[in-house]
Amino acid sequence: MKKAGEQSDIDYIMDSVEFDTNGGCWLWNRAVQKSGYGTAPRRFVSRIASRAAWGVFRGDPGDKFVCHKCDVPLCVNPDHLYLGTSVENMADMVRRNRCSPVRRFGVDVGTSKIDESAVVAIRLSDEPYAVLAARYGVGEGNIKAIRRGLSWPHVLPKSSPPRKTRFVEGWRQIRAENGLETKPPTRQFAKMKASR
Ligand SMILES: [Zn+2]
Repeated sequence: MKKAGEQSDIDYIMDSVEFDTNGGCWLWNRAVQKSGYGTAPRRFVSRIASRAAWGVFRGDPGDKFVCHKCDVPLCVNPDHLYLGTSVENMADMVRRNRCSPVRRFGVDVGTSKIDESAVVAIRLSDEPYAVLAARYGVGEGNIKAIRRGLSWPHVLPKSSPPRKTRFVEGWRQIRAENGLETKPPTRQFAKMKASR
């Protein structure tokens, strides 16, 4: 049996939506944020309506991102939402701009050939711009911007580290934070590590 508070939150959500009979979306019909997401009252886990709805129907998303399968920011149908880990969400957010918290990131959102893992690889590589540009099918300017952290600023490392030591330590830290193997992935990396 549900608690009284939970029931009223569910009622609030259900009273705040219009049902789209085509896609099954629950479209928020109250206040909308500039970002295109609905605005929920303060008492919910988030002011972002899709996040709030997730909180009501599925539980507090905590530090995970609430993403849309349906690509409709106004939709709060819990069946159209999923929880993204930070890593997969960032890539997804860049591709589709459909996750909360809401920020728009990356180059050529929606059309980029670069994904998050490519950004990391580019920043950790010391290969020439032209080589990387060819590999990822983008312009050298894109590679430069990625290396300097001007684009994809949300992806770690933020920019190519200036010193080899920082490179190694930073790389390890990032990998550890993401629960990944901290063994050097490439010969190139091992070489750099050995020469520091
Ligand atoms: Zn939907």
